[in-house]
Amino acid sequence: MSTAPDPTVVLGDRFARELNEMAVPWHGREVPDARLLVLNEPLAADLGLDPGWLRTSDGLRLLVGNLVPQGAAPVAQAYSGHQFGGFSPRLGDGRALLLGEITDTAGRLRDIHLKGSGPTPFSRGGDGLAAVGPMLREYVVSEAMHALGVPTTRSLAVVGTGQRVRRDTLLPGAVLTRVASSHLRVGSFQYARATGNVDLLRRLADHAIDRHYPHTASAEHPYLALFEAVVAAQAELVAQWMLVGFVHGVMNTDNMTISGETIDYGPCAFMDAFDPRTVYSSIDETGRYSYGNQPFVAEWNLARLGETLLPLMGDDQDDAVSRLSEALGAFRAHYSSAWSAGMRDKLGLPEALDREVTAPLIDEMVTLLGEHRVDYTSFFRGLGAVARGDSGSARSMFTDPAAFDVWAERWRALGPDAERMDRVNPVYIPRNHLVEEALAAAEKGDTGPLDRLLDAVIHPYHERPELQRYAEPAPGGFGPYRTFCGT
Ligand code: AMP
Ligand code: MG
Repeated sequence: MSTAPDPTVVLGDRFARELNEMAVPWHGREVPDARLLVLNEPLAADLGLDPGWLRTSDGLRLLVGNLVPQGAAPVAQAYSGHQFGGFSPRLGDGRALLLGEITDTAGRLRDIHLKGSGPTPFSRGGDGLAAVGPMLREYVVSEAMHALGVPTTRSLAVVGTGQRVRRDTLLPGAVLTRVASSHLRVGSFQYARATGNVDLLRRLADHAIDRHYPHTASAEHPYLALFEAVVAAQAELVAQWMLVGFVHGVMNTDNMTISGETIDYGPCAFMDAFDPRTVYSSIDETGRYSYGNQPFVAEWNLARLGETLLPLMGDDQDDAVSRLSEALGAFRAHYSSAWSAGMRDKLGLPEALDREVTAPLIDEMVTLLGEHRVDYTSFFRGLGAVARGDSGSARSMFTDPAAFDVWAERWRALGPDAERMDRVNPVYIPRNHLVEEALAAAEKGDTGPLDRLLDAVIHPYHERPELQRYAEPAPGGFGPYRTFCGT
């Protein structure tokens, strides 16, 4: 390891210093043969990094953690987590590193984090590595989510390591360079709580308040206010997932952030045919993390977060429990209002309309979409055309178009605004068959399909006739889709 020759790359070590009990100093595995697969130039610029320099051999060494910039003290972070409902006290970064924090050009502090950077003391028998496919998948899906306006961690680069990773077969290895407003998770609080060290727990909460919800520091009860803020942020986030048809796939408490950003894109996917029971992850046998269950799971995870805060809530623990429960109780109202507002936007309904008018219309539409297993994304975009008087494509998505006609007539009578609809209903999402196609080509060394897919999904609302195939549902032969975790 050596120090960066580029004096402009300066990272902080704030997490490592303030929460050293949860930070194991560590280093990335040496990658002798790094090869850049994809670089996010606009994000690099936001971070004040020179994309040209990042493409140099020193730049690549930074991106895989082999060149430690000034001020950085890379660490593997400790956290716990409820995985599929069962508690694991010691998870942590088993194949990841927090390189350090960077102040971006807007003055915000952001983590630079590596995934697939080699084994750590938290690897628990895992190899600490990542394969090209899943890291590119995180890159594509997280950048698509960002373009859709959904809070998320970002992807700066994927670098091929030139080394093989053993999964079911031998696969090409890669490191993802991830950017996030922090990597504090519900599982981070569970870890601090489980140590029994109340001082650590308090420092963690103070760190979270300072980084994400500084206004809560001056509240009468700052830790309760922190919890309320996380409840609101997560309610808002999951409502947005639901509105874009996103299935996270593995909503364990270690995969839920305090910031309210989506994190850890594993067996995730966008729903095609509408069905609340949709599950893509091969390991989710009971459907715990199905599309329709996501709001309930988020609420359950937040209850686990609330429990960790009890030692910070004063001596009257009965009172603390009741205040935290009341705060958690706000989740449903927050979620419903965020979801309903989003649905009204998707349907272009005038803001002034009464809830009594819009709510039944929305409910009936959701029922219809499920009954006819309509492609979720195409439907809303097609509906924009209906608002303009062209009934064609949306209508033909229904097995019984007459059922749609009855609904559509009532909806059109309310005067939907097609322009507004087109600003919130994407044409392009990372459809499962397109993602698979792009990853398979990239694994063989051809990043052309990946670049084209990225071009479509990072401008999701801008319809381009030459990208028509990126707007279409999977061909019939694609079959049911399965994604795999921990790969
Ligand atoms: P995930 O479900 O991907 O969020 O990961 C859950 C836990 O497993 C985390 O503690 C990861 O660091 C760890 N993990 C996942 N894959 C590997 C791997 N290949 N080697 C070591 N640890 C891993
Ligand atoms: Mg994880």
